Amino acid sequence: MPELPEVETVRSVLAREIVAKKIKLVHVTDGRAVRRHKTAKDFRDQLEERTIKSVERLGKNIVVELDDAHHLVVHLGMTGQVLRAKNAKEPKPKHTHVVIAFTTGEELRYVDQRTFGELYVATPPGEDEVVEISKYARLSIGGNGMRIRRQVRELAHLGIDPFEDQVGWDRFAAVLRSRTLALKTLLTDQDIVAGIGNIYADEILFSAGLMYDRVSESLSAIEIRRLHRTIPEVLTEAIKQGGTTLDDEMFLNPDGEPGSFQNDLQVHTREGQPCYQCRTPVSKVTFHQRATYFCAKCQG
Ligand SMILES: [Zn+2]
Repeated sequence: MPELPEVETVRSVLAREIVAKKIKLVHVTDGRAVRRHKTAKDFRDQLEERTIKSVERLGKNIVVELDDAHHLVVHLGMTGQVLRAKNAKEPKPKHTHVVIAFTTGEELRYVDQRTFGELYVATPPGEDEVVEISKYARLSIGGNGMRIRRQVRELAHLGIDPFEDQVGWDRFAAVLRSRTLALKTLLTDQDIVAGIGNIYADEILFSAGLMYDRVSESLSAIEIRRLHRTIPEVLTEAIKQGGTTLDDEMFLNPDGEPGSFQNDLQVHTREGQPCYQCRTPVSKVTFHQRATYFCAKCQG
């Protein structure tokens, strides 16, 4: 499932390629991908003739700002891909659900084998509408996150984004100490920390030397600082490598290229192989129905 580094990889390609372009036509071939809209026509009508102003990200959501103050939000779900095509003649991949054609002739295709992902156009909140923003996100002292949440009420519930919200380690400590959740559960709860899923939770917890089932309120100040520092470090490295593409090949950037962070995974998918730090075989357990990898010696 695409997580923050994969979504950021898609965002940065789109920011480079579609800003200032005007949407000519939108085709919806599978209405499930635009299920928040009453009809596919409603989705189309809100996009056609619009020009792209910016492409941002919050958590696992791509947020495309349109010239009428609406936003196209794309969530890739489990298997969603946004692929570019130079023109309509390029063959459409199987499971293409939405095609966005620009006046330049280029297209974006939304491809999703399992159709858990979605696209929708968010209307801006009314002038006196109060948008209820996540209490965790409100700890932020800077970044774009608060602005995006205020503009897109559908994303206001999202917790702390490790890059778009600035939350110092002391405030992060208050979050951890206010909850009695296993660390992996806390890190992957989008309403607490937005953007981390199964792969990066394992990698972050390995790098921080913390077990997946440690209870959040039990961490010492040193452990909290280490976790707080490790989250952006691991995610930044993964972004540099264009994300993680596992054997299912489900993650590709809009140019159809895989990421390479799978080659740098320390524990995730490495069951039985020696830990790079201590040579102990990496363990795998099922934790809340998710495969969880860790080093029993390096993590405590
Ligand atoms: Zn180890």
